[in-house]
Amino acid sequence: MKGRKCIYSVVVPLYNEELVINESYKRIKEVMDSTSEPYEIIFVNDGSRDRTSEMAKEICKKDKNVRLLSFSRNFGHQAAITAGMEYACGQAIIVIDADLQDPPEVILEMIKKWKEGFDVVYGQRSERQGESFFKKITAKIYYRLLKCLSDVDIPVDVGDFRLIDRKVCDALKKLPEKNRYVRGLISWLGFKQTSVKFVRKERYAGETKYPLKKMLKFAFDGITSFSYKPLKLWTYLGLIVFMSGFIYLAVIVCRKLFTSYAVPGWAIVAVIILITNGAVLISLGTVGGYISRIYDEAKGRPLYVLDEKMGFEEDEDGSNG
Ligand code: UDP
Ligand code: MG
Repeated sequence: MKGRKCIYSVVVPLYNEELVINESYKRIKEVMDSTSEPYEIIFVNDGSRDRTSEMAKEICKKDKNVRLLSFSRNFGHQAAITAGMEYACGQAIIVIDADLQDPPEVILEMIKKWKEGFDVVYGQRSERQGESFFKKITAKIYYRLLKCLSDVDIPVDVGDFRLIDRKVCDALKKLPEKNRYVRGLISWLGFKQTSVKFVRKERYAGETKYPLKKMLKFAFDGITSFSYKPLKLWTYLGLIVFMSGFIYLAVIVCRKLFTSYAVPGWAIVAVIILITNGAVLISLGTVGGYISRIYDEAKGRPLYVLDEKMGFEEDEDGSNG
């Protein structure tokens, strides 16, 4: 990476995108040329089985601003973005899908915000065109569910289309977790964040590379990476079940003592079931609490992230300790 200098790095993940790569390159190039500043486009070929790799190589040979990273197999969209960021040399790194659903022209608005001093500028979808009703509704519900479950403020209707500053990229590289949900990690990092609204267009050509199975795994990664609530929830449910067992027990004891009511055998069975199941659920939630702590340690995220440092110059010389 030494010797390469540029202001902007545009990271484009590609998986079987032979139908869109040329158009995508053309549109991104037009936009980036209009900035009149040095830039690079990093294509990350995520183990495509069509002609994407050859086509990307052709572009790379012709244009000195284009670089290519090619995976040995399909490692997934999030891995592709991560690789692109690792190899990027720009002061601002932009991630954009190859299929032109994220209009490259929006990059200019992102750059404007970056120059105003924002460290993260994410694209927020105000409308989604040309996607199925199922995709729209599930996405809408999912983003809201994630926001409600997560302790980190993950904005809704936001994908990976965004610009991040060099310092955010460097901080992101220090997060070692494997099941990466990059958009969540960037929210977790903090820094000065803002959004630009855009209309998410129809795919330029080809079809989605996120079939239902991949989408479900991705959604699960998002929730499990940013929320412990599914692990701890059982304690509350357990408490309700446990308490209702005791209340029911009190009711049948009172009825037995003060009325002529003959307590049926199943009532005692119901009380035993409620109390024991309640206890099991409470212990499940308790175990969940411990597991969430182990999981936290395993993720190896830093305890805090620094934005700036001042007055520590002496320490860096080694003269102050
Ligand atoms: N992609 C990838 N690896 C994958 C799946 C997708 O690199 O395993 C890329 C794909 O080429 C595109 C971007 O990720 O540039 C988003 O994928 P897609 O447009 O298919 O997802 P959708 O917009 O339908 O959610
Ligand atoms: Mg797409």
